Amino acid sequence: MSHMTEKISDTDVLVVVDIQNDFCPGGALAVPRGDEVVPIINALAQRFDNVVLTQDWHPRDHLSFASSHAGKKPYDTISVSYGSQVLWPDHCVQDTPGAAFHRSLHIPHAGLVIRKGMHRSIDSYSTFYENDRKTPTGLLGYLRERGLSRVFLAGLAFDFCVRFSAEDARREGFAVFVVEDACRGIDVEGSMATTRRSFADLQIPYVSARDLT
Ligand SMILES: [Zn+2]
Repeated sequence: MSHMTEKISDTDVLVVVDIQNDFCPGGALAVPRGDEVVPIINALAQRFDNVVLTQDWHPRDHLSFASSHAGKKPYDTISVSYGSQVLWPDHCVQDTPGAAFHRSLHIPHAGLVIRKGMHRSIDSYSTFYENDRKTPTGLLGYLRERGLSRVFLAGLAFDFCVRFSAEDARREGFAVFVVEDACRGIDVEGSMATTRRSFADLQIPYVSARDLT
């Protein structure tokens, strides 16, 4: 993995992925040590003029919940209209405490909160396109209209929502950087290794929060 120093400019954007209670220790779908990134991201965000926060935001009977499928358990995989789908514990249900941002997340100048996973029958890992790979969240339009050209990604989980967001941003022509120390992963069936291979294939670089000035 490569580390480099990058100077942040006013056409860069920090996308803070899913820093929600359910993805932190004690939450319904906790990413191990997920809360450790909160102070790192708070400090990092102060160096960016442009910050977007994302929020996983599911209806109560969402297709990605094992509880929505008779006889299925969390982490089983099922086949759905758009391919295979991992089933998760119920998490980030709209307007519940689990869906709220971690109480210590403090980025008052964030310009946009983008919510994803609201369609009952489509999950959404990427903050750009839902898992059918066709339904846009609107983030792409926002970044383009604002003239933002480099996307820095931080948050949870490294090997799902950060991964798919980074891949989509790259495919849409943005320069993409993953702030590695500001992410934590969950590692379901080798997903950490798959993510690292994908980032290598797509030449998506890692940076460290302390190297962003
Ligand atoms: Zn979700």
